[in-house]
Amino acid sequence: GDLTTPTAGSIDALAQHFPLCMANLHKTLRATHHLKHYGRLQYTLFLKGLGLSLQECITFWRGAFELIPDDKFKSEYLYNIRHAYGDVGGDANRRGRGYTPYSCQKLLTEALPSGGQQHGCPYRTYAPDNLTTLLQNVGVTDRQVLSGVKEDVGRQRYHIACNRVFEHAHKAQLRKVKDEGLWSAAELDLVTHPNTYFKRSFLLKN
Ligand code: SF4
Repeated sequence: GDLTTPTAGSIDALAQHFPLCMANLHKTLRATHHLKHYGRLQYTLFLKGLGLSLQECITFWRGAFELIPDDKFKSEYLYNIRHAYGDVGGDANRRGRGYTPYSCQKLLTEALPSGGQQHGCPYRTYAPDNLTTLLQNVGVTDRQVLSGVKEDVGRQRYHIACNRVFEHAHKAQLRKVKDEGLWSAAELDLVTHPNTYFKRSFLLKN
């Protein structure tokens, strides 16, 4: 795979490398053909951080919101995508650049979702049993990992839970890069950004 030029059509395949926050948004989007405002913003900025161009991002959302007519898409959703990329609006500072993809710190401190919203970090926003189900749905079934996650979450160490899942999902690959000294200490440090999670996962598995 090519990390430098993702397209609207490659997002489904790339989703296997997403951290739970983004995998959850992607899954919800595909299942319901919709995401509420904050989820859209969080996911759009993550996709931007992946290197998805504005044009491809618009193509992605237009396709994903397939139940919504063109005129409604244009009037209600298009502007926000362009705004996130800095194509329209904003102050002079942000023009041409738009907004920065959200870090874990940001996602772990924002207002909790309610009423069908799916934004934020699921390690924090999901009730423990629902979190276990969500993890199982994305292929994390190891009992020890799931109970470790429960403990982490009980101590409000949400990003530690996320790193636990990352390490489990990439165990063999991480052992290899460690044994062969391929990654620096910084590259092996805790993941603190969804885009870092993605990038490391992609590099380890390609
Ligand atoms: Fe996403 Fe960060 Fe939460 Fe992991 S810890 S699910 S990367 S917000």
